[in-house]
Amino acid sequence: MRALIGCLTMLILWVAVPGAQSPAGKSLQIYVVDVEGGNATLFVAPSGQSVLIDTGNAGARDTDRIMAALKDAGLTQIDHLITTHWHGDHFGAMEEIAGRIPIRHFIDHGPTVETQARPVAFLKDTYPTLYAKSKRTVVQPGDTVPITGLDWRIVTSAGKALTSALAGAGAANPACARFTRQADDASDNAQSVGSVVTFGRFRVAHLGDLTWNKEFDLMCPSNRIGTVDLHIVSHHGLDVSNSEVLVHAIQARAAIMNNGVRKGGQPSTMKTLYAAPRLLDVWQMHFSQLSGQEYTVPGVFIANSVDDQPSAMPIEPMAPPPAGSSAPPPPVHSGQAYWFKVSAQADGSFTVTNTRNGFAKTYAVK
Ligand SMILES: [Zn+2]
Repeated sequence: MRALIGCLTMLILWVAVPGAQSPAGKSLQIYVVDVEGGNATLFVAPSGQSVLIDTGNAGARDTDRIMAALKDAGLTQIDHLITTHWHGDHFGAMEEIAGRIPIRHFIDHGPTVETQARPVAFLKDTYPTLYAKSKRTVVQPGDTVPITGLDWRIVTSAGKALTSALAGAGAANPACARFTRQADDASDNAQSVGSVVTFGRFRVAHLGDLTWNKEFDLMCPSNRIGTVDLHIVSHHGLDVSNSEVLVHAIQARAAIMNNGVRKGGQPSTMKTLYAAPRLLDVWQMHFSQLSGQEYTVPGVFIANSVDDQPSAMPIEPMAPPPAGSSAPPPPVHSGQAYWFKVSAQADGSFTVTNTRNGFAKTYAVK
């Protein structure tokens, strides 16, 4: 009888949560989907409410991969879609996804700071038609996204960072003294909407493609976001992001890098990650040719290969080809793709699963 009452209570709670489309559970589920060096990260709260951060690249490949994750999570709508910034590897498949599943709330940083035709046309002609029947919010640092059971904080947006520390954060950041500025980034990357999400004692940071000098603005002289358990590595693991002031100060126990075959995972980023205090493991979406054998993680931590697998792994990290160079394109990966699945508990423990090989690791209660 007590069990029956428990079930009824859970059922009532589930029905009472507005927007909940997936059966209530006890854990926070996170899917980091392979969109080939773009971003699509899905959060499903214990209430069943969902947040998708970014929609990968345009086209059927990434649309199908994101839809597969939504289906696996049992979702029939996306409660909140955060678009971190207006680059094609982050908003690419939005229109196609919106044509397949209702999106109830669109969140972004406002207009692009760039002049490329595609994002400008998308923002002028397409985006307004997508949010016309739901809701759009342009967020500021310090804003929250309303999700039952989670504390979802926006920590960066439109080039601005939090000016006061989140609860429990604000410690001096010793890495700031060693920080060397890079050239200022005039691209939309620097405008990225960054989130820090707290579920009980579990915390995760996802800062989109936020770049180097903006990391300093957020993290120095004091660390205003505090420490986390899981770090979704910024900007696919590129070395124009991921400075020590961020990567070392947040003291993550696990990092998931949404890199491509030849995008992100450069030696300097890998060294910063490997030297991070308390970081136990880096999980890479792909083997990165820019990591090479020298800097890559063991294959068991890598989720995806390419369609035509090479027989040997290059030892030397490859230098990223300059933009517009005549270097051959990276190997194709249009076949079966695998996501990383994270299941986090309110006590702060969490499990990361590589769905390619079934390898899973649990990070215990601190
Ligand atoms: Zn990107």
